[in-house]
Amino acid sequence: MTIDYEGLYIRGEWARPAGDTTISVISPTTEQLIGSVPEASERDVDDAVDAARAALEGADGWGTWAPTRRAEVLHRFADELDARAEETARRVSSQNGMAISLARQFEGGFPSVLLRYYADMAAAQEDEVRPGMLGGSTLVTRSPVGVVGAIVPWNVPQAITFLKLGPALAAGCTVVLKPSPETVLDAFLVAEAAIAAGVPAGVLNIVPGGRELGAYLVAHPGVDKVSFTGSTAAGRSIARTCGELLRPVTLELGGKSAAVVLDDADLAANIESFFAATLLNNGQICWLGTRILAPRSRYSETVDTITDLAKGLKIGDPLSDDTQMGPLVSSRQRERVEGYIEKGKGDGGRVTTGGGRSGSRDTGWFVEPTVFADVQTGHTIAQEEIFGPVLAVIPYEDEAEAVTIANHSDYGLGGSIWTADPERGAQFARRVASGTVGINGYSNDPTAPFGGIKNSGLGRELGPEGLASYQQLKSIYLDVR
Ligand code: NAD
Repeated sequence: MTIDYEGLYIRGEWARPAGDTTISVISPTTEQLIGSVPEASERDVDDAVDAARAALEGADGWGTWAPTRRAEVLHRFADELDARAEETARRVSSQNGMAISLARQFEGGFPSVLLRYYADMAAAQEDEVRPGMLGGSTLVTRSPVGVVGAIVPWNVPQAITFLKLGPALAAGCTVVLKPSPETVLDAFLVAEAAIAAGVPAGVLNIVPGGRELGAYLVAHPGVDKVSFTGSTAAGRSIARTCGELLRPVTLELGGKSAAVVLDDADLAANIESFFAATLLNNGQICWLGTRILAPRSRYSETVDTITDLAKGLKIGDPLSDDTQMGPLVSSRQRERVEGYIEKGKGDGGRVTTGGGRSGSRDTGWFVEPTVFADVQTGHTIAQEEIFGPVLAVIPYEDEAEAVTIANHSDYGLGGSIWTADPERGAQFARRVASGTVGINGYSNDPTAPFGGIKNSGLGRELGPEGLASYQQLKSIYLDVR
């Protein structure tokens, strides 16, 4: 049975699409068709942006509601998402190959948490009266930034969607969401939840399509802010458009983070956390530490521990409870990853495990977890984002060299430090040029700002900073003298 939709979620209902093309979703595990949705056209985007504008500003518009009133709706929305959490996890897992255990946690669990967190945060905010220096005082108010164009990738589609929808909707913005063509079936479940929760018409609209449609949305005259998660190349192009239009933009882009093993680390004792920080979701997460920096004094031992980890992973059907690693999202992605494996060998890296397509399976876009030893920081696989289960272990002499290698990157998104002494780890983390770093693990907590520096992006999501990026500040000078 395939999952098929005929309408687009625009203006609170299933709207008839302007065109007649569809997006077919193919399972990366079975290579069979698993569902389809209409592909939105530019006319549908126009319609969705109009709907979002009307919902924002119209009589009793979402943007004019008290935050507490919006919070009631967002809590109902969260409840409806929770009611669909298992189905959401299964849809994501079957579309992009994410292990179901992870999909339950990230994709089924996270969206409602984020909605409630931001609904309550916005409801608790009050206008501030700030005493001035010139004798008067200033009333500082927050209002929604407006209509948001939100564009998300396929790798963690639901969590990333709600990194944007949570704060945007709580702030009073309305949204036109463009999911990635690889993961559309989960986005349509969000529409079902929104309808069931009574989210007012036009507050959220969903237009599935490819990069051209995304570019059309970014440049649309009716959009007030763009929030994008995806590749650095696309982010650059979006930044150019937004720069020209002076349109606020948040960019969460690629990464090539360092996992730094200090000389006192007990990696084997933390191996599950190490797996989560380096290979989770088949290596398809932006913040993973895929450059492993190991002290030369313990280099071969560290390579052995990581090799054993990769060898021991359970690879298979992502919908099985005990699977740790499923297929990559598409055959194109597999080719890309295989290209990097060849490049790694060509540059002189030594494969200690993996490198192939994974066992005797004849279907599915699997790539074995692959570990490269003897990698140097200048090698391509130590510099470019691979977005697959490929780790590069780079030796260093001392801490100073470890910092230099860790920061020898065009990216700066995640990272981790492994040590028996968390205090030492935190001191080391301060020297790493990155937006986020974990000590003996990596977990981007919702309360803390998340985002990158350098080619990893602009702006922050999560935490109060995430809400602030969807709010416009206004200063009203009172008692002016
Ligand atoms: P991608 O950039 O190809 O596509 C991401 C989304 O943007 C898709 O919806 C796509 O249709 C759309 N898009 C592509 N080009 C566009 C353009 N020029 N204008 C407007 N929209 C456009 O990326 P992908 O392959 O889907 O995702 C993987 C990338 O995303 C990796 O580089 C990964 O690191 C990055 N990522 C970053 C974060 C983060 O938080 N920093 C999180 C997840 C993924």
